Amino acid sequence: PNELLLYCRPGFEADLAAEVMEKAEHSGFAGSPYCQQDAGHVRFVMPPGEPANALHRALPLAALVFARQSLVALPPLQLDRSDRLSAIIEQVRDSGWSAESVWQETPDTNEAKALAGLIKSLKRPLEGQLRKAGVLRRKAGGRRLHLLWSDGDRVQLGMSFPGNRSEQLGGIRRLRSPSRAPSRSTLKLEEAWHEFVPAAQWAARLSDGMQAADLGAAPGGWTWQLVQRGMQVFAIDNGPMNADLMATGLVEHLREDGFVWTPPARLDWLVCDIVDKPSRVISMVERWLIHRWCREAVFNLKLPMKQRWQTVSDGLARLSASLERAGVKAELSCRHLYHDREEVTVHVRLID
Ligand code: SAM
Repeated sequence: PNELLLYCRPGFEADLAAEVMEKAEHSGFAGSPYCQQDAGHVRFVMPPGEPANALHRALPLAALVFARQSLVALPPLQLDRSDRLSAIIEQVRDSGWSAESVWQETPDTNEAKALAGLIKSLKRPLEGQLRKAGVLRRKAGGRRLHLLWSDGDRVQLGMSFPGNRSEQLGGIRRLRSPSRAPSRSTLKLEEAWHEFVPAAQWAARLSDGMQAADLGAAPGGWTWQLVQRGMQVFAIDNGPMNADLMATGLVEHLREDGFVWTPPARLDWLVCDIVDKPSRVISMVERWLIHRWCREAVFNLKLPMKQRWQTVSDGLARLSASLERAGVKAELSCRHLYHDREEVTVHVRLID
């Protein structure tokens, strides 16, 4: 296999292509991205004979912003609708691949959702034939074979590896909207925690009695998440906060400007969902981190502009350069989450 297959939110193909292109080049790999607007996926094809496995390892999914899933892939197949499986089995057998499990997926588009019936009907025969061909095996090191269906006769096969993949179907973490949260954007912070804080560390890093600031807090979706974890929250916003949330007694609502407000003491968490220019949000976060006013931060960068990858890349580079200059050691990650639309989520954790 000499290509990568990456999933993304439809509409963000060009951003993902630009990101992968730049990062591949930076790691010394040649190749070209192929994508169609709104297709929900991008191919990155390397020159003939160049195996994609090394590139796949050099660009771990967790360090990519716009990718929801990353696979080492074979060329896309155009199938005969009367016999879809033969060509699939042949391609995967020729590649010498073996896998422990197989997932059928579609891009995150409305057209592709109509393929759910086909996928269901293929499941048993596909798995049966893969087993017979020796592809699907019990001991294959957790490797997973992915079939990405973009139409009833178009599929692309890819492979994912434990530790460098999304464990969610389609790379999408579906979360149930809590009925009592003041706004749906509550899911952005919850998803960010799932993404950036390992489950085993939630008790220590998201715990009772911690203190947090929520800048641009109204009506309180993010504050609600912090309160759910038992934290005390400074909610900074000119707008009104949800009354039930205020009744918990854990929230102090301050009608101040989030860009100038400073906390009365060191806090555990800073979160910010203010809609403003990325450069302005970054300057504010920079100030917080350099003064060590919080240990961890989650904030969104809103991206209504065209050159979204460039904006994100410049912003993150600026933030890490200024932290380094100030001698502040930190882990920095940024992901385009499923519940993010025209925005990405950044997580920073100080290392002391
Ligand atoms: N995260 C919130 C939730 O889950 O309910 C939604 C936040 S909403 C997208 C953005 C908020 O930022 C608005 O309520 C707005 O009033 C507030 N805002 C805008 N500029 C601000 C500033 N300079 N300081 C504080 N809040 C600001």
